[in-house]
Amino acid sequence: MTDGPAQMLTVEQALERVLQAIPVLEAESVPLAGTLGRVLAEDIMADIDMPPFDNTSMDGYAVRAADTQGASPERPVVLRVLEYVSAGRMPQHRVEPGTAIRIMTGAPLPEGADAVVQFELTDEMQTRRPAQAGGTVRIYAAVQPGHNLRRRGEDVRAGTSVLPKGTVVRPPEIGVMAMLGYTHALVYRRPKVAILSTGDELVEIDQQPGPGQVRDSNRHALAAQVARYGGIPVSLGIARDSVEDLRSKLQAATAADLLVTSAGVSVGDLDIVREVLQMDGEMTFWQVRMRPGKPLAFGHLNGVPLLGLPGNPVSSLVSFEQFVRPAILKMQGHTRLRKPEIWATCLDYIDNRGGRRSYMRAIVERDPAFPSENQYTARLAGAQGSNILTALARANGLIIVPETQEFVEPGEQVRVQMLDWPEV
Ligand code: AMP
Ligand code: MG
Repeated sequence: MTDGPAQMLTVEQALERVLQAIPVLEAESVPLAGTLGRVLAEDIMADIDMPPFDNTSMDGYAVRAADTQGASPERPVVLRVLEYVSAGRMPQHRVEPGTAIRIMTGAPLPEGADAVVQFELTDEMQTRRPAQAGGTVRIYAAVQPGHNLRRRGEDVRAGTSVLPKGTVVRPPEIGVMAMLGYTHALVYRRPKVAILSTGDELVEIDQQPGPGQVRDSNRHALAAQVARYGGIPVSLGIARDSVEDLRSKLQAATAADLLVTSAGVSVGDLDIVREVLQMDGEMTFWQVRMRPGKPLAFGHLNGVPLLGLPGNPVSSLVSFEQFVRPAILKMQGHTRLRKPEIWATCLDYIDNRGGRRSYMRAIVERDPAFPSENQYTARLAGAQGSNILTALARANGLIIVPETQEFVEPGEQVRVQMLDWPEV
């Protein structure tokens, strides 16, 4: 049953087959705050120009630039002040030659004016009191037309698409949508991901494991991964290693968009799962050329896509990162499905004989030899057995050793898939 490395699928081949069968979910309208981290299913259109009117980017005096030519501290230009306009008010006067209007950031540019002189370049800084309407202000520097102005529409033009469909919403996108009056936006739906653990040895985490038993940690860690990548985890509990139990637990998942199981896909367990899936769906078992996590099941159960992950805790979580995460992201309309990868200097010796691609739990840090640059080191986070979960808890990256490379020597550059970024 176990194939040699040459018969196994590569990670890319397995992922491609999974993604081919995963649909993008439908769109839903969501209140603005709820769109954070999600993917826009519509173009965000501007209903107005932004800025909506010419306005000043500085506190200062709106002037006719021509009036200020030749102004200096020694030979100031004296202008008559017509009024004071704060943001939210409209000017009542037109700036005529020899006059100015005192104006605050964001206030509309008065007619007749074509530039703003900031307070710092006027005598307001010495007198420490604003010039009053009817009084005068001394201008100490010349300004050119357009100076300190924000022009109508320089950011956004009414009627244009500002954020295209497919954009991932971050806080700035929330700001843009708010600016354009969107109280709601269309985003792709988050998948409900049902998670089922299988195994006679598993007990709930509030139980004291008896002889031969272990706590079901996978379901909790997998649910956290689902939530982290935007899915809605739904727990199906633990199925015992029997056809009846497995079948009834899996059937409870018809409302799910994706079904994730852990364990029961290694050679010894294969038959029960296969039996159930032959009754209710179709399934392929793959040997993927990776370590940890060689066995992977993929198929559909009552029309719902199912990914069967291996049971060993590290295999299960690492396989999730490679196959389930991209599937969940695709369902939500994401198109960038790969985890970020970097180059790092490997500090340890790695034996990768066996022709599989290894994902080694690693601690990635900035390289102290290059304190000012983005250079990283990667060292193993501990023993690499697929049961050593604490080493994954210590890791912030996975060193990827290609299937074609048998050894990594200390000092060699390695590719690292980042799970989290080190603090800078
Ligand atoms: P299996 O894939 O069923 O052969 O399981 C492989 C290993 O993973 C065994 O040592 C199991 O006890 C362990 N295992 C399976 N499921 C879980 C789980 N949900 N939580 C923790 N360990 C598990
Ligand atoms: Mg088992």
